[in-house]
Amino acid sequence: MRDKKIEKLIKSEEKRQAEGLELIPSENYVSEDVLRANGSVFTNKYSEGYPGRRYYGGQDFTDQVETLAIERACKLFNCKYANVQPHSGAPANLAVYAALLSPGDTVLGMDLSHGGHLTHGHPMTLPAKIYKFVTYKMKNPDTGEIDYEEMRRVAIAEKPKLIIAGFSAYSKTLNYKKFVEIAREVGAITMADMAHIAGLIAAGVLRNPFDDGFDIITSTTHKTLRGPRGGIILTREDEEIAKKIDKAIFPGIQGGPHMHTIAAKAVAFGEAMTPKFKKYALQILKNAKAMEQVFHKNKIRMIGGGTDNHLILADVFGSLGVTGKEAQTVLDEVGITLNMNSIAGDTRKPLDPSGIRFGTPAITTRGFKEKECACVAELMIKVLKNKDNKKIKESVHKEIKKLAKKFPIPKKFV
Ligand SMILES: *Cc1c(COP(=O)(O)O)cnc(C)c1O
Repeated sequence: MRDKKIEKLIKSEEKRQAEGLELIPSENYVSEDVLRANGSVFTNKYSEGYPGRRYYGGQDFTDQVETLAIERACKLFNCKYANVQPHSGAPANLAVYAALLSPGDTVLGMDLSHGGHLTHGHPMTLPAKIYKFVTYKMKNPDTGEIDYEEMRRVAIAEKPKLIIAGFSAYSKTLNYKKFVEIAREVGAITMADMAHIAGLIAAGVLRNPFDDGFDIITSTTHKTLRGPRGGIILTREDEEIAKKIDKAIFPGIQGGPHMHTIAAKAVAFGEAMTPKFKKYALQILKNAKAMEQVFHKNKIRMIGGGTDNHLILADVFGSLGVTGKEAQTVLDEVGITLNMNSIAGDTRKPLDPSGIRFGTPAITTRGFKEKECACVAELMIKVLKNKDNKKIKESVHKEIKKLAKKFPIPKKFV
């Protein structure tokens, strides 16, 4: 590349990714095929509108790309309609709100401090300024079970137009049937924001909310789904809803679609249909369990008591007296990347909370199995227990580098 400054930064980032272990549960590595599509000449093209209904000429190939992406998304998630244009997860959610709600309408979503996402009503977000968000919570953070009784009471009292299932820091199984039951009782539409677990659902190793009657699924495409940075909105069968969503994306909140990203989404969806991807998804779950067991053995409290999916939320402050921020920093020093996270009922501030959140999608892509994951968990705990011991940290860093070298980031997945 002629731009030496940027080229150098790309190389540095490649090295950082190659040498460290990525435990942020929302991150992953894409295949070279996804990367190729994402870096293709489709980035040059304007294609406002939808296949067959565009506002610019020259759409012979963009139409085929988007149609393929839509067909594959529908097949993968077992639904009738897909909008593959959202630039990312946040605009996907915003588009659903814009499509189905009027200003002032009420939405019921998971409380942020119990695992919900910023886009489900954090006061700093635009949707929170336009709509009224009310919340449900876990009944007991040590089992992780949602308080469905309370959810029903709030739904009856607040009459939400939309009920959201979905999370970014929750490790247990949701009872989708209960959501649908409550929504039907109060006449609400149901949306599952599956950003984190879309890959696990696509592979069939976690339950598909559509099978329990959910109306809409929104998701990112870059987390467990292992595609390019982007979003999707799926509608199970209601054509009216699907039409409103299309209009809300374009011209509602977006202009021209990023056709290079859509091409890369299509490639990722194709990869996700293979038996190899199913094996990958199963291994993500097994690996998370292996890490859970090590934390359990070391008596470190996990929110929900453990994990049913790809991620773990651990109360490191409560169990080890190490704050989330300290844990994030000291683990960074030894080549392990994860993030600090608030836990339910946290008495500490969001910028230095009690918890850490980590997960297995990226290391599983590298080929880690249960044995290596248990080893990483042991090393994490060793560092957390000896956070001021330089010698121990150096020796762990060496082991992490060795593991990273032994399991290079693969380029081909199928
Ligand atoms: C990651 C995530 C999003 C937002 O996705 P962006 O691509 O970062 O905008 C939305 N909802 C949930 C549940 C997420 O985990």
